[in-house]
Amino acid sequence: MAQDQPILELRNVVSAYGRIQALKGISLKVYPGEIVTIIGANGAGKSTTLMTICNIVKAVQGDVMYKGERINGVNSDLLPAMGLCQVPEGRRIFPRLTVMENLDMGAFFRKDNAGIKDDIERVFDLFPKLRERRKQLGGTLSGGEQQMLAMARSLMSRPKVLLLDEPSMGLAPLLVQQIFNIVKMINEQGVTVVLVEQNANLALQCAQRGYVLETGNVVMEDEAGKLLENPDIRKAYLGE
Ligand code: ATP
Repeated sequence: MAQDQPILELRNVVSAYGRIQALKGISLKVYPGEIVTIIGANGAGKSTTLMTICNIVKAVQGDVMYKGERINGVNSDLLPAMGLCQVPEGRRIFPRLTVMENLDMGAFFRKDNAGIKDDIERVFDLFPKLRERRKQLGGTLSGGEQQMLAMARSLMSRPKVLLLDEPSMGLAPLLVQQIFNIVKMINEQGVTVVLVEQNANLALQCAQRGYVLETGNVVMEDEAGKLLENPDIRKAYLGE
């Protein structure tokens, strides 16, 4: 699984909102083909980590490395075309566009029309509900369907690395399980996944490795199975 060269790496990254440091020197590595989860309590800095990778929040110190290159200054809008795509918390689909139009937006920088058509079919195979609802306006979809659309739209950019921020948030348990199954299927199709989750239990079952964040620091990293068995983790994050 783990290969020598990480596809994504944070080296001692510090980022802040005004004078408040949200990340206090985060280092982490993600290898090609992995699902890596970042777990932690509310406010630990999980979302900020993803936003800092995408340069939506600026790193004031440290290196964000993608495919061996430092990407700290790269405009976040350019990252999907480089294969690095974030599905933000809260979904942020286009509510006044149809499902199809939302998917087209995910491929906005691509010119290979035949490839785009194939990919639309591929994401419809992953999310059959979206095929049924392809003419429906995004804003009228249920919460679960909007989450599916947000993930499907990001797949239209053919990501190498997908950054998922709380995909299970606000969804009914059955749907949550479905979303995690789809994350695994996406990964099996060759996409490396970084998964930020409050639902540590499911996230650790889905991922190969995990990082535990506490108030802007990585306090533990290990294979997901080992984190799941760790009594401290079970007590702090799995409600035992
Ligand atoms: P949650 O699961 O609640 O989203 P999180 O682990 O993702 O938590 P972050 O959202 O990354 O945590 O927040 C990290 C810290 O940065 C928190 O102390 C939070 O209050 C602060 N923070 C986040 N966004 C902002 C903002 N826009 N302005 C100021 N402070 C912020």
